[in-house]
Amino acid sequence: MTTQLGIINPATEEEVASVEMHDIEETDRAIDRAAQAALEWRRVTPADRARLLRRFSEVVDSHIEELARLEVANSGHTISNARWEAGNVRDVLAYYSGAPERHSGRQIPVAGGVDITFYEPLGVVGIIVPWNFPMPIAGWGLGPALAAGNTVVLKPATLTPLTAIRLAQLGLEAGIPEGVFQVVPGDGATIGQRFVTHEAVRKVCFTGSNAAGRKIMEGCAAQVKRVTLELGGKSANIVFADANLERAAASAPYAVFDNAGQDCCARSRLLVQESAYERFMELFEPAVKAVRVLDPADESSEMGPLITAAQRESVRSYIDESDVAFRGSAPEGRGYWFAPTVLEAPDRTGRAYREEIFGPVVSVVRFKDEDEAVAIANESPYGLSGSIWSRDIGRALRVARGVETGALSVNSNSSVRYSTPFGGFKQSGIGRELGPDALLGFSEEKNVFISTEE
Ligand code: NAD
Repeated sequence: MTTQLGIINPATEEEVASVEMHDIEETDRAIDRAAQAALEWRRVTPADRARLLRRFSEVVDSHIEELARLEVANSGHTISNARWEAGNVRDVLAYYSGAPERHSGRQIPVAGGVDITFYEPLGVVGIIVPWNFPMPIAGWGLGPALAAGNTVVLKPATLTPLTAIRLAQLGLEAGIPEGVFQVVPGDGATIGQRFVTHEAVRKVCFTGSNAAGRKIMEGCAAQVKRVTLELGGKSANIVFADANLERAAASAPYAVFDNAGQDCCARSRLLVQESAYERFMELFEPAVKAVRVLDPADESSEMGPLITAAQRESVRSYIDESDVAFRGSAPEGRGYWFAPTVLEAPDRTGRAYREEIFGPVVSVVRFKDEDEAVAIANESPYGLSGSIWSRDIGRALRVARGVETGALSVNSNSSVRYSTPFGGFKQSGIGRELGPDALLGFSEEKNVFISTEE
């Protein structure tokens, strides 16, 4: 039986839509449709699959503003971020539209015949998306999965289904055949778990919390089901004394407060070399206070609200037990607002320093030298992203090789590009998304030997 769920705008606390949540039976029907559609979709010629993905990208492009406005209302993302996010779906689809015609196997020299490999689609792929980046994370699974010849059932986060629902409609409008890309809004523990237990779903592509990720991995083991996990992070932004401190300090707030800190790549630990610590903090404080926390629909807004009141309470609980160095500002009244907050964590022991907060909070610590910077960066069980600021590129590269994380940037805080691989070390996940090899995660490599003996 379907139920309706009210979707709340986190900036106003008003209901903006009501969405039908799927039950298990409907989810099973969607999976069955996807399995049926997979038989046809894998036979669509590479050039036609490419053409359809290109068309899908173009249709998304002509709806960027509509998708962005939906995300502002549903998720409280700033309008400029939301436009980027919708544009990222367009770009990912366009990038992977080049893949079907290039997803070639190999011819391997062997005795007595010819040996060739093929990349076969897996079948149905279940994509489970969190609430913090509903559009990009949907696109990162969807683009390469479809390009490799799979069909997709996608479960958006319960709180943020609106853009995914719209994307599925746009896919149909672009000519993607019925059943090839379906969205099933619903609860994680039931609908998401159904992707794990249903035998026709051959892979689960999960992005979300470590607790849910572990459960999914355990469940997938029963069927030896393929799984990609993109989980939490507690990334380090490492600033050496020889860096351009003005640039490092000016951009550090956005490396952690972007999307109100609800970002798996948030550089929520700021490691500053002791000899430059005072100077850096002098520059950092005004930069934090200048962050424009405003109505996300305002063109100049740089940070919106948190997603729910419960998320705000969770973030607040960390602050209540920490030493606050300084804070920025946030609106008062309705909406789940939380001001950017800077903590000092000299002993590196508190919960706020160790755990992923998923809010606009950064802990600043000191380090003495290169070795200590790497050791501190690596003391987290996570390893997703991070930054290194130094004018000494040899040092920056040594540190980059030493830090155990999947996506690093030097003299920059940007870690996501659709054309480069993305994913975590250690407990931040398993597998990689995006980049030139993403289709490998959605394909089985098949080896065929053909005898040439008489
Ligand atoms: P969450 O784990 O609560 O939910 C994520 C998705 O999984 C939702 O769609 C949810 O309904 C579903 N789900 C929940 N329990 C499930 C279960 N038992 N079986 C199947 N599906 C289930 O996470 P969230 O709160 O939506 O997102 C925040 C988390 O996501 C943070 O930890 C963040 O770091 C992580 N994240 C990681 C990346 C990355 O790429 N590494 C990107 C964004 C977010």
